[in-house]
Amino acid sequence: MTSNVPQSVGPDATIGILGGGQLGRMLAMAAARLGLRCHVLCPEPASPAFDVVRRVTEADYSDKAALDRFADDVDVITYEFENVPAETATFLGARKPVLPDPEVLAITQDRLAEKNFIVSLGIATAPYLAVESESELAAALLSIGRPAVLKTRRFGYDGKGQATVQPGDDTATAWAAVGRQPSIVETYVPFEREISVVAARGYDGKIQCFDVAENEHASHILKVSRVPADVTPAVAGEARRIAGLIAEAFGYVGVLAVEMFVVADGGGHSVLVNEIAPRVHNSGHWTLDGCSVSQFEQHIRAVAGWPLAVPLRYGRAEMVNLIGDEIAARRHWLDVPGACVHLYGKQTVRPGRKMGHVTRIFP
Ligand code: AMP
Repeated sequence: MTSNVPQSVGPDATIGILGGGQLGRMLAMAAARLGLRCHVLCPEPASPAFDVVRRVTEADYSDKAALDRFADDVDVITYEFENVPAETATFLGARKPVLPDPEVLAITQDRLAEKNFIVSLGIATAPYLAVESESELAAALLSIGRPAVLKTRRFGYDGKGQATVQPGDDTATAWAAVGRQPSIVETYVPFEREISVVAARGYDGKIQCFDVAENEHASHILKVSRVPADVTPAVAGEARRIAGLIAEAFGYVGVLAVEMFVVADGGGHSVLVNEIAPRVHNSGHWTLDGCSVSQFEQHIRAVAGWPLAVPLRYGRAEMVNLIGDEIAARRHWLDVPGACVHLYGKQTVRPGRKMGHVTRIFP
């Protein structure tokens, strides 16, 4: 796969960002630190990124006239979430470089295509099967076994579009739980821990990985990341190798994250890939306070065609998400010595909504 690599943009360039959530907000702040400007396009009013950029376009991803004006105003386009419609990316790609390449979106938007891609690189995943109907699910469960995890092929994140199928569970209930849509079913992985690697690949093909993070989820949503992960050097090396291999195979330009399971295997461990996020990632937020370069700056450098930085970690890092009502704890955190508090400016609290995060670095 090749990327539509831009010429390196000048210091007065404008980066276009599709999506206006907290990731877009933190990307724009990193761009500003480098003297670059951002223009965010997002359909939702009062998006967190709108507060911190030079220009905003509040428009639907299918609004061609708005997309045209957006493309005219920017030098290069990137995105903060992977569900940007493929037609939007293609439409914009005909006007300005879109990085990472829209072909990456096509693969990572579909769990089946993504898993097939990972396996084609010789990387292990949980055994999985595609299912299109309740009867296919019943047959797949017979061959895969239980417990199993059923996941919609498209638009799943933070545990949405997922159902665990235990021994004795009714197949019809599980099929209904994911909305009776094309899905994959995979074996439940009895993991020892969950880890992720946030990696950047530059326009020149150079790759820089951040140190491996260990992630704790609650209700399928990331709760805490700790860096470095408590894994052996062999596991850390394997995790970084896998992330590099994926970035290389995509001809990727920008930051991506690879989420993995560490499983006890005989006397040692094996690493299975769960999923790829073609964007900056929650498990990399610690880099804002705990590293010489953040994942956000690294992504901006990559899509601007500027050289990547070599990341130097300042100490052991712990990042805690403030989810939904937990935002009330901001008062507590504001008083904690050494706590770096990040609030996303979201006016409406909803259960499961990421409202902010707190990072502590222990040198
Ligand atoms: P995902 O949406 O695939 O990132 O899944 C969200 C979370 O659900 C993961 O981080 C795991 O904690 C859990 N999970 C997903 N797939 C599996 C699996 N096959 N086995 C065990 N846990 C899983």
